[in-house]
Amino acid sequence: MPISDDAKSHKSKLVQLWPASSKDMREAARQLAYYGYQADLIDTPEQLIRGAAAEPPTGILIDCTLAGELTVALKAELTALAQRLPVACISDLSDVHARLAAVRMGCQAYFTRPIDAAALLDTLDRLTAPPQAEAGKVLIVDDSASLAAFYAAHLSEAGFVCQVVTDPLKCLDAILEHPPELILLDMNMPGASGQEIAKVIRQQDAYLSTPIVFLSAESDVGRQREAMSLGGDEFLQKPIQPEHLVSAVRSRVIRYRALRALMVRDSLTGLLNHTSYKERLRAEVARAKRQNKSMSVAIIDIDHFKNVNDTHGHPAGDRVIKNLARLLKQRLRGADIIGRYGGEEFALALPDTSIDQAFSVIESLRESFAAIEQHAGAASFHNTFSAGVAEYTPSSPLLSDSEALIKAADEALYASKHGGRNRVSLWGAAI
Ligand code: GH3
Ligand code: MG
Ligand code: MG
Repeated sequence: MPISDDAKSHKSKLVQLWPASSKDMREAARQLAYYGYQADLIDTPEQLIRGAAAEPPTGILIDCTLAGELTVALKAELTALAQRLPVACISDLSDVHARLAAVRMGCQAYFTRPIDAAALLDTLDRLTAPPQAEAGKVLIVDDSASLAAFYAAHLSEAGFVCQVVTDPLKCLDAILEHPPELILLDMNMPGASGQEIAKVIRQQDAYLSTPIVFLSAESDVGRQREAMSLGGDEFLQKPIQPEHLVSAVRSRVIRYRALRALMVRDSLTGLLNHTSYKERLRAEVARAKRQNKSMSVAIIDIDHFKNVNDTHGHPAGDRVIKNLARLLKQRLRGADIIGRYGGEEFALALPDTSIDQAFSVIESLRESFAAIEQHAGAASFHNTFSAGVAEYTPSSPLLSDSEALIKAADEALYASKHGGRNRVSLWGAAI
């Protein structure tokens, strides 16, 4: 599906801001809109309460100095609302009394004027983030089909997606096909022991960090320890209470996800790091080839970024980078791949997207980014970016692998810089 305004609005989160008469609120609404929020300015507290009942927004931003002056009844209604929805507030005051009043009204975040748009967005992103819904993926390796089915049933009931393998020699294929987030491994199996399988798994870098939990009737502590030293993370003894199994698996999967996020994500922006982006791009090009579909690659580089650091300091530069990362995350589709390619350089892979579609998406991002007001202390300023786009098309033999695509997008980026910056160039179009 091409990227469309529909796809974007589908993703947008509704935030209500009160009062509409406030200059700060209007400015906050403008900033939020750039990042894909639907920001509704509301005139009166009655309208806010009625509106939230009719169509619950994902978040609310209020002026808590004004809220403090409301009637007792209205204040109570607002407090009740804050029990159900995230409410953030802005205020002129920073003292503990004012903050305490806001906490008692149920406000989850507190900002003092002048509003730092980046901090406001970070907080709203956090307050309105949907809970991580993706189920944990568990591979169960046990030669007893009935026992494996028993564990799978309990883990599935707890929300995990389980894959069962009863022949240990088929374990590697299963891991390749559906990479698990935890492997539950029996120890005594015909064909290969659990310890041997653990060694085989650990010999491959890609699975060095995948948690392996041994589940075995082995009661000899020495042999249990030995198994752990061969790459296991935990030893659970059969028979095991299903609740115990579920909680052990859950905590390991949560920890694995946190560690993995650190390994593949850039810490400043939360985007894929350089290496992970390239890995994902390779997989995406392979998929486009298999499915006979087009895809586009874009490289984005912030213009004159050195000036931002020189004029406003490195932390302000970091915030600009985060702002652009947030814009990309909010405006692109879930299937799009976004990486921080270098310092102030980002790389995108847009599956199933022609170069013309990619152009209009990135052109619209360029316009939005240029309109964002960046803040550094009392100063505010604007930045622009330049971009280059290249396309893989099944019919074109010119760019047929990820390296060639990146190189071409980079050449197009160079043309944008050379042509005066703040523009998007397409590879192959008059370059
Ligand atoms: P151009 O328009 O040609 O891209 O000019 P530029 O100034 O953006 O490009 P240049 O490559 O000369 O400078 C990039 C600067 O980005 C230099 C480097 O100090 C800065 N930078 C790189 N990574 C970071 C970072 O993580 N945070 C901050 N604040 N600055 C960074
Ligand atoms: Mg630059
Ligand atoms: Mg650069």
